[in-house]
Amino acid sequence: QIGALPMSDMPGSGEANVVLFLRDLTEARRLEAMRVDFVANASHELRTPLAALLGFIETLQGPARDDAHAREQFLGIMRTQAQRMTGLIDDLLSLSRIELHEHVVPTRTVDLGRIARQIVDMQAPLALKRGIALSVERPDIPLPVLGDRDELLRVIENLVENAMKYGGSGGVVVVSLHRVEGVDGRGARIELRVRDEGPGIAAEHIPRLTERFYRVDTASSRQQGGTGLGLAIVKHTLNRHRGKLIIESEPGRGTTVRVSLPEHRPDTVGPMPDEVPA
Ligand code: ADP
Repeated sequence: QIGALPMSDMPGSGEANVVLFLRDLTEARRLEAMRVDFVANASHELRTPLAALLGFIETLQGPARDDAHAREQFLGIMRTQAQRMTGLIDDLLSLSRIELHEHVVPTRTVDLGRIARQIVDMQAPLALKRGIALSVERPDIPLPVLGDRDELLRVIENLVENAMKYGGSGGVVVVSLHRVEGVDGRGARIELRVRDEGPGIAAEHIPRLTERFYRVDTASSRQQGGTGLGLAIVKHTLNRHRGKLIIESEPGRGTTVRVSLPEHRPDTVGPMPDEVPA
């Protein structure tokens, strides 16, 4: 019934057209359902901190009006909730910006090892505070890829933050870099791995982790300041970089997230600058 109307106008074999038409419609329906889900989820995620904020404002204007101790405590919680909303809006904006130019392959050469080192240096104070042994291992060779430096920084930052958040305090987080020789005439790839020794992730969750707002344990993710958008942002950024994302995990033994990008060797010989036009 769905394809009946325009089918008679279509040239060529009727059957082939029916299949094509139905498929297009299924894809359109799927995208529409995803969009509706996304708006519903985003609204819900924004409403939760907003409802908490309104509750505290009412309490401060009413029963706790003259209670200095409660005021201090509530203002602290309100600040956390407001920060959560800001984080969520920042992530939503990042996601839509990345999606807008997802089909545009970056044209600058960057060294993935340097970017990883920068992130590890940035996260070192937090790791120290939480008793996490955070380290980076890289081979002593250039690791050039075509990439947007800021976007790749965010990808690695996200993965390291997850490993530290979910890997548990007092744990070990290792960021390692590798050059993987291509097989069957394919070019070499630069691979970055982030390994933690946390509780791991059950197999049934792994394929869904890059969906927007998908979290294994929503309450614990929220408590850690997570928005559920981190891995969705990682996935879309990697699409733009022709990158691959593989999540390997064994409950009880930890998680390794692997990101691989095509190696890019500029024609020029000599030491590679941090960022040069390709
Ligand atoms: P969040 O903002 O909740 O961290 P992400 O998209 O970054 O969102 O991750 C999605 C979910 O994947 C997390 O809520 C968490 O349940 C799970 N996860 C991600 N990384 C790890 C990890 N290294 N170990 C265990 N679980 C993880």
